[in-house]
Order: sequence, then C-alpha cells, then structure tokens
Amino acid sequence: MHYLIISDIHANLVALETVLADAPDFDEIWCLGDLVGYGPNPNECIERIQDFRHISLAGNHDWAALGKLDLRNFNTDARNANLWTQSELTPSAREYLDGLPTSIEQDGFYMAHASPKEPVWEYVLDTNVAYTNFAYFSTPICLVGHTHVPVIFTLDEQRQRCHTMIPSLPDPVSLDQQRMIINPGSVGQPRDGDPRASYAILDSESMIWEFLRVAYPVEITQERMRARGLPRRLIERLEMGR
Ligand code: ZN
Repeated sequence: MHYLIISDIHANLVALETVLADAPDFDEIWCLGDLVGYGPNPNECIERIQDFRHISLAGNHDWAALGKLDLRNFNTDARNANLWTQSELTPSAREYLDGLPTSIEQDGFYMAHASPKEPVWEYVLDTNVAYTNFAYFSTPICLVGHTHVPVIFTLDEQRQRCHTMIPSLPDPVSLDQQRMIINPGSVGQPRDGDPRASYAILDSESMIWEFLRVAYPVEITQERMRARGLPRRLIERLEMGR
C-alpha cells in the first residue's frame, strides 16, 4: 500500500489542496492530527479529507476546538484562533473531530499525534524524549506530528540512545533497518524555516519513506486569515515557516 502521510493541516485548505495535487499516487491518507486551529478553513479541511479513504487522529487543537482541552494551556494567539474555530465549526465537523482516536496501530505502524507516551500533548523535539518514547509502542515504526518539524529519530539499542536524522530531500529512507519515530512535518504551518507544505509518502511493501515539500500560495491563506480577523502573528509566520 502507498500511504499519503500528512499532519498539522491547521485549517489551511490551500496548503492541503496543493499537497493533494502534488502527491504521487496513493491508496489511503494517514492524517496525524490537528486538522483545525490557527487557519481559516476548518470545516472545508474536514470535509475534504473525507473525500478519501483515510485514517485521522485527534490532535491538541482538534480537542481544543471541541472544548475537550483547557484553552489556558495555549498561548494567546493560539487561544484566540481556537475560540474563532470553536464558533465556526459545523455540527457535522464537530461530530467528525469528536470521533477521532488519539493513537492507532495500522498495517504494522503505530501512530499518535504528539507522542506514544502522551498522544495529545508531548513534543518529541529531542533525542532524550524520543528515546523514552520507544518503550511506549511495540511496532518497529511510530509516526507522530505536533512539532511541525520533519525529522526521524532512530533507536540505537546497543548504546541505549537515539540519533536524529534530518531529512535530505529527495533521498528516500529505508525503514527496515532499525526502530524509528518519524514526523512528516506540517502541511499547514511548517516550523523548520521552510514555508513549503511538508508531507510524506510511505510504501508499506518496500518499506520506503519519502519526505516531500511543495510550495503553495501562502498569500491566499494569509488573505483569508485577515478577512476572518485571525491573529497577525499567525498570519505572518506562514511566509517564514517559523
Ligand atoms: Zn499542530
């Protein structure tokens, strides 16, 4: 099977459509959470993903939009954007988000929005946190989102530590050598200094993973955010990829 791996769309429909058009052929979408929050098109993103055979996980912003998380845990801009999202969601969008699991195992892969240890909140940003998390799933590979930074953490079992592998595009990565925690990066709000939408393609037969980037018209999303009165800092960060 060929899977399109996406995460952290954050209601950025323009970025999502660009990824869907750019992606090589796939059989199914695996979305690692945060369909909404920050961006201008939450309902449209939820509707669009349902056009495909897919699996979708709940992220912290999805839960916040449902009132399942205390908004005091978010910074001011994220909180304000989330209040706007709460007021905007249709009943069917809310129902969709409410039915999402926080982690799942599929086709031999484990997935969680944030981390296997804390599926909704923990940031796997460094090798120490990554190392701890290998004890919380039993499959060879775990996929996470949440940090908005594409990365692979590989487990070095002999030395009991992890290594960081920063993706070098377009080199495919072979997944059958060691255990890994992999983040495909963010479609709708990348934070690694590259404003292009980030995603991946996984071939589960050959066990090949490919990171991909595609530029999308950031200014259209920014214009929609301005029209909806969303926070200025959230609008500006899109063009910086920070
Ligand atoms: Zn996110």
